[in-house]
Amino acid sequence: MSDPSIDISTSPLVLKFGGTSVRDAGAMRRVVAIVAGEIALGRSAPGPRAPMVVVTSACAGVTDMLLECARGCGGERPEEALALVATLRERHLGILHDLDPDDDHEGRADLRTMLDEIERLVRGVAMLGELTPRTTDLFASYGERLSSLLLTAAFRAAGFRAALADSREFIITDDTFIRAAPLMAEIDRRAHRMVDPLMAEHDVVVAQGFIGSTIDGITTTIGRGGGDYSGALIGAALGAREIQIWTDVSGILTADPRLVPNARVVPEVTFTEARELAYFGAKVIHPDTILPAVARNIPVVIRNSMAPADPGTRIMPDGTPIPSGIHSITMKKGMTALKLSPRDPRDGSAPVERALSLFAEHGVPLYCGLLAESRGLAITQSSAFNDILLAAVESTCRVTVDEEIALLCMTGAALHDVPAALSEPLAALDGITVALVAAGTSEHIMLIGVPESRANEALSAVHRRLFEEVTV
Ligand code: ADP
Ligand code: ASP
Ligand code: MG
Repeated sequence: MSDPSIDISTSPLVLKFGGTSVRDAGAMRRVVAIVAGEIALGRSAPGPRAPMVVVTSACAGVTDMLLECARGCGGERPEEALALVATLRERHLGILHDLDPDDDHEGRADLRTMLDEIERLVRGVAMLGELTPRTTDLFASYGERLSSLLLTAAFRAAGFRAALADSREFIITDDTFIRAAPLMAEIDRRAHRMVDPLMAEHDVVVAQGFIGSTIDGITTTIGRGGGDYSGALIGAALGAREIQIWTDVSGILTADPRLVPNARVVPEVTFTEARELAYFGAKVIHPDTILPAVARNIPVVIRNSMAPADPGTRIMPDGTPIPSGIHSITMKKGMTALKLSPRDPRDGSAPVERALSLFAEHGVPLYCGLLAESRGLAITQSSAFNDILLAAVESTCRVTVDEEIALLCMTGAALHDVPAALSEPLAALDGITVALVAAGTSEHIMLIGVPESRANEALSAVHRRLFEEVTV
């Protein structure tokens, strides 16, 4: 399979595979076939072949299990934690056996060593009786470290020269464990140094998403679902020609397919639209993913590892002409709405303005803040809202709290030029109380707040109106 014409001065292709795309041996073989297809495509094109860099997530469900394991041993339930390690051992060794029944001694030994490390970690934490965020990150990191070992074995079993890179050597972050912030300048400095020699000698380099390390070498993670972000960070640092995010749906859909079975693929969105869509709840892509790609103008494509022939969704640089109108609807449940008014009407809008500014001061994200005359409305995530912030807001103005709001977010392009973007969704909500409407803050989004109890119904009704009956 060796091909001396790989040219590392050519921009690599970075392919990130999510948990379901590497869930078992069959899924891993599909990954190998997808990469083989890209290599064949590159071969048929004139000129030297571009290197392939694969960024993998943990096998589906494994990060959750590792975090459960961490909580188990930290919370005096070491037997449960050890039982989870046994399940992880069986699953990962089973996948390796399935991939390479003729035995890959090296891979098996590495896998066993790593699983033994997890077991020792469980015992150590159980003995101390204390789980720190730093140790939680160490636990979580094993998911990607295990799956990347397996994926490397899958490539090797198929005859590819595959190298395993440890992302912690070049994805350098701060020490905000559990949600560490990547340090781009340091990543830029290290990525080429670590990955270039591997690319030069191999058909494919496999690295882990989600994990990194501090400058002192302490393992960190960059937030749940952060594998997409890692793919983009690695792609940006290596100057990729394209970043492909392979998942279990054929791209960004007009709505979450689990809630709206008739959802269909959106062929193209811009960077800003994708970011806003992710921020307002579309799990298909991590919101921070777009930033490194934007900084280097690298196109991002979302594709389906179960249907690799589907073209997917292309996320294009802002300014690329794409059809105007609503492209998709996302929904964010678990929101709290605060209606704000001055205690004394003679105070004007100052108390409400002050109340709106308190969210940032308390580190609580404000999803939407409106001020009209002297009254205001603030929407935040219920899980982030807290009594200290409420007391602060109450000390400035009168507050009514509604804890059961869901936000529907219509995302698209040039929405301010499409009057129906506002009227059609509202018309579809006939009979459902509208708690808020916000449009005009961006040409890409329009928000409608509805009672959480009717959120799914509202989403289906708006989707039907926009995508199943009328085209906006
Ligand atoms: P991965 O493990 O590959 O990172 P995720 O589970 O994080 O995959 O994201 C893919 C899932 O996102 C899909 O299976 C789908 O259920 C969900 N999803 C939510 N909203 C959307 C949307 N608008 N378009 C596509 N998928 C969506
Ligand atoms: N494995 C990590 C998670 O489950 C990161 C990812 O898959 O994107 O959150
Ligand atoms: Mg994901």
